[in-house]
Parts: sequence; structure tokens; C-alpha cells
Amino acid sequence: MIKKRLKQLRDRLLGDRDRLEKELEEVSPANMEVNPGDEEEQADEVEEMAGRVALAEVIRRRLRRIRSALTKMQNKAYGTCENCDKKIEEELLEVDPESRYCKECKRKFHG
Ligand SMILES: [Zn+2]
Repeated sequence: MIKKRLKQLRDRLLGDRDRLEKELEEVSPANMEVNPGDEEEQADEVEEMAGRVALAEVIRRRLRRIRSALTKMQNKAYGTCENCDKKIEEELLEVDPESRYCKECKRKFHG
């Protein structure tokens, strides 16, 4: 992969990481305002809390993939399929820069 393209992908990953870290902070239940209210309000808050926990989990999973892609860039191991060791197609990395697998393996895993 040419350096310029690699740098573009890296910038995108760094941007995504920063954005997701901010989002994670925003959805963190610790930052949720809890107002003493009637029972109905409390039920809403419990529901919101559950939604935030689920969302935080999705964000965390994505962050892990991004961080691992960035580490691989540092180790010059980026762009190699973790399953078959072949090069991941550049067009796939354009769409999904944190992809860990090549097209073929992705297809295998997702049916
Ligand atoms: Zn593969």
C-alpha cells in the first residue's frame, strides 16, 4: 500500500477514534443526570440507562477495532488478513479501514 493512502486511512481512524471517545463519554451513565421525580420518570431513566449501556458497548467494541488497526499500522502489520495472512483489498479498507479480514474471509464469517 502506498504511504499516502496509508496516512489517509490512519487519519480517518484517528478521527473516528477521537469522535467515538467523545461519544462514549457522552453516553456514559455516570454522566447522566438523575432527577428525583415520580415513578414514571424514574422508569424512563432506567430505560434510558439501559439504552446507554448498550450503546456504550457498541462504541467500545468499535474503539477496540480501531485501536488494534492503529497498533497494526505502527507495527507495519496493517492491511493483512488475520485469518489467512493475505493482503486485505485496498477497496475494502477504503470502506472499512479497521477491517481485520480480507473480503473472502469476511464473506466466510458472515455467510
Ligand atoms: Zn483472509
